[in-house]
Amino acid sequence: MVKQAGQNKRCIHCSSERTAVMSKWRYVFFMSTLPVIMAVILGWWMTSFFFIFIPAVIVLNSILASKKPPVIMCMDCRKETGRAARSA
Ligand SMILES: [Zn+2]
Repeated sequence: MVKQAGQNKRCIHCSSERTAVMSKWRYVFFMSTLPVIMAVILGWWMTSFFFIFIPAVIVLNSILASKKPPVIMCMDCRKETGRAARSA
């Protein structure tokens, strides 16, 4: 595992040092999975109208992800433990 200077923080939940910065697209995928599954189930069960929410959710999450600094995730407890400082 590559250690990046200035990005290794202790987890605020379990004090683990195994933290990693989540990339924008991983964050979008992570945030979109549940609403997309919901839209697929509702669209299949009720009306295909709900399928239009799938691209909408992905677009919305990519906009949100680009506005916020990258999320730092704890590799041990899988919780968000902070935000990386925007260095670039
Ligand atoms: Zn943790």
